[in-house]
Amino acid sequence: MLQSFQPLAAIAPTLSMAQRLQPLWETGAVTLWMPQTIADQLPQHDHLRGYEGSLRSHLAQLWPDYQGFIFGYATGATVRLIAPLLQDKATDPAIVVLEGTGKFVISLCGGHQGGADRLTWAIAHQLGATPVLTGGANELALPGIDVLGVPFGWQKGSGDWTGVSAAAARLEPVEVFQEAGSTLWQQRLPDSHPFRFGASEVDAQESTAIAARLWISPIQRKFAPESDYPKADYPKAQWHPRVLWVGIGCERGSSRRLIEAAVEQACRSQHLAMGAIAGIATLDLKADEVGLLEWCGDRQLPLRCATAEVLRSIPVPNPSAVVEAEVGTPSVSEAAAIWVAQQMSSDPVELRVSKQIVRLPDEPGAVTVAIAQADREYTGRDGQLWLVGTGPGQLSQITPAAQAAIAQADVIVGYQLYVDLISALLRPGQIVEALPITQERQRAERAIELAQWGLTVAVISSGDCGIYGMAGLVLEQLQVQNWDGKTPAVQVFPGISALQSAASRVGAPLMHDFCAISLSDLLTPWPVIEKRLIAAAQADFVVALYNPRSQTRTEQIAIAQKIFLQHRSPETPVATVRSAYRPDEHITQTTLAQLLEAPIDMLTTVLIGNQSTRFHQNWMITPRGYLGGVGSRE
Ligand code: SAH
Repeated sequence: MLQSFQPLAAIAPTLSMAQRLQPLWETGAVTLWMPQTIADQLPQHDHLRGYEGSLRSHLAQLWPDYQGFIFGYATGATVRLIAPLLQDKATDPAIVVLEGTGKFVISLCGGHQGGADRLTWAIAHQLGATPVLTGGANELALPGIDVLGVPFGWQKGSGDWTGVSAAAARLEPVEVFQEAGSTLWQQRLPDSHPFRFGASEVDAQESTAIAARLWISPIQRKFAPESDYPKADYPKAQWHPRVLWVGIGCERGSSRRLIEAAVEQACRSQHLAMGAIAGIATLDLKADEVGLLEWCGDRQLPLRCATAEVLRSIPVPNPSAVVEAEVGTPSVSEAAAIWVAQQMSSDPVELRVSKQIVRLPDEPGAVTVAIAQADREYTGRDGQLWLVGTGPGQLSQITPAAQAAIAQADVIVGYQLYVDLISALLRPGQIVEALPITQERQRAERAIELAQWGLTVAVISSGDCGIYGMAGLVLEQLQVQNWDGKTPAVQVFPGISALQSAASRVGAPLMHDFCAISLSDLLTPWPVIEKRLIAAAQADFVVALYNPRSQTRTEQIAIAQKIFLQHRSPETPVATVRSAYRPDEHITQTTLAQLLEAPIDMLTTVLIGNQSTRFHQNWMITPRGYLGGVGSRE
């Protein structure tokens, strides 16, 4: 992430600050400068440097050499140090401050053109700190031109990436021609984004006032060298989504070089980029063909093999009776290319390159190549499914692990209200799929689909994701799909559940044995719920009622009250906590007898005490044991 800011310097006044910055210099992403006496206390490292004399004069020397500086100083000291060196915002380096406790990274200067905001994000991310950005939010919400294809496994093609990125950072018009690959990256762009989406190159030639151009395409475009830009020209760059499946048939013993030459020739014949190749497909008889395996290994391309029976069923433009007689299918290269590409497409697939037969004078064997294009790109990545609990609704109540997971994921899937509550954690360029609350199963399926495709997907639930949350739905769905337990890899990030957050606002009501019961009969039959209410009431559990009352479902809470009154005193303390830790939090303390007069809805958790629970000065207290109150064992 720090690559686009090289070279980078950090400056630390103390040993502890130097150590705090270690994740940055250790990897070589940053060169750390410090007084020589401090440097002497650290082990030798290529990216650790000491200086003698005053920092002020030393900084003046370093200033022109770095694109960005990270100061481990107070903002005041940093401002005084850099003030004499600042010239203009087009050329000044990015200045970022890591404050003394290491909790916050502050974008101080060069936020827009210098990229300090993006640098701040990247550093905060690496150090597990919170980024503090004071510039306009717009630039921040823009995905980096040179990283936007990474989640989808796109390959970076040739071009002037720095030039195109700089134009985008300056919010100058960048024309985008996307001929292949996912458009999910376009979904959450800020209103003032610089992209102009062109329909075709015909428009492109007519367009004016464009500062840069980006292609997202399997086509390999040749750009004039930068030095040759005519006056009216501008920087261009190209991403290659991996949509091309190369079908290969070959004689036994065909060499790796011959295969490579054949594929290169086929690509060249239609100006296709080698970087856009998703993988190779062939007949299962060729699964042990040495040259083919070696070449796929070299280029880290997947090799997909089909039986002759499968390939025979695929219509192709150039069938061959000779081939059919030999291997049982009239086509290998064309049929295999179409066969795999079709698996990643919804429309019927056509060939981009029909069968070509290639021989080389000094190489053994003969190779046939055909290329088909899929709708959906192959990411080449193993997906991850992170099931994340986001707590009751306040950022400070989300675990750091869950926060990091949210910030790192390629995609966030969740109910809109919860996405809004964590929006401060979202990264520019992150894909957000917010679905209505009623569509939990669809949400789970969508998350699995994206993870199976190779993306890192965070599915967020309020509270704990494993308590009436999305974790169960996702895992259940994976089970239905006969998941192998490995791909996608699943990780569960716990959160503070509603019963804990509600309890914390009223005291210590859950101090003794307790249980949670959801009154929603959407997924559970009511008689089952009723049975559990009776059992919990009889057993003197403290009870947290989830989903207590909706607009249409109002009876259940009254039935619950009646059941509890059969086993507990009408004076039993009850608390209702609505929207704990959210701005509209509302708490009521009442008794079992008066429960129905309290405001109760779907954002409320109802806590019913046991026979020993008491209110004291507005605190709801359940004694730790039954053995004699204060001072009893444990
Ligand atoms: N996974 C969540 C529960 C989801 S079920 C968790 O572990 O907390 C939704 C129910 O949770 C709501 O109907 C309400 O009863 C409760 N709830 C969720 N957030 C809450 C909050 N901030 N304050 C009070 N109750 C809440």
